[in-house]
Amino acid sequence: MLELSSVTKRYAHKTVLHTISCRIDAGQCFWLVGRNGAGKTTLINILADLIAPDSGVVNFGGLRYEDDELAIKRNLGVLPDKNPAIPQLTGWEYLQFVGLLHELQTDECLRRVKSLVEYFFDETDDAYKRIGTYSHGMTKKIGLCAALLHRPQYLILDEPFAGLDPVSAAKLVRFLQSYLSPERCIFLSSHDLGYAQKIMTHIGILEGGTLQFVGSAEEFASSKHTLEESILQILQPQESNIQELNWLL
Ligand code: ADP
Repeated sequence: MLELSSVTKRYAHKTVLHTISCRIDAGQCFWLVGRNGAGKTTLINILADLIAPDSGVVNFGGLRYEDDELAIKRNLGVLPDKNPAIPQLTGWEYLQFVGLLHELQTDECLRRVKSLVEYFFDETDDAYKRIGTYSHGMTKKIGLCAALLHRPQYLILDEPFAGLDPVSAAKLVRFLQSYLSPERCIFLSSHDLGYAQKIMTHIGILEGGTLQFVGSAEEFASSKHTLEESILQILQPQESNIQELNWLL
């Protein structure tokens, strides 16, 4: 179980997150959706302990970062928005380095790295190239492999489909559907409605610093509207006047 209680974060005088509360039980995939700038990455960075909230509590199965940071991080896999992979290392070297940090046995680490690379990379030779030469999608894939190497119970993914080709994205969907077991939680931020809806069990819509909707996919589903229409109804986009672009059109 992953729980956020009254999480608030301000930057200068702007409150980006205002008393956010939600609970994701084991076996659930929570999809966080919202506009650019809504605060999704800020929330994910708080969950991953990359930044601290101004107030509020994050707890993972009853553990908090203040008291049990290591215990939480042993069970946590994170693909952040800005992948921290080391550009001077090859993908293979980087994954071995991450395996060392998780204190994996050498043989076991090699076995895991090999199978992850074979699943996520079309050309396994790419794993022997320096990360600094990788495309956006390849960097995402190496970040995903790194997040998964220690078989985390909690998986937090910020825009995992961004930059992936359709074949790789379909593989990732299939993988995440299989990875979600009764003991695990996935927290997913994605603008890709099509992919996200194949995985999510629950949805949270972030707008104006608060969660405007939190609930199960069934609660959100409407017989009258598509998922996209229902999300747009909550986000209520302002009408943009295309005539403004007449000079261009
Ligand atoms: P999203 O991921 O939903 O696009 P972000 O969490 O990246 O949104 O950003 C939410 C808001 O917080 C934006 O207005 C952004 O400009 C602001 N913001 C994010 N990080 C910082 C920072 N380090 N300093 C000041 N403002 C920030």
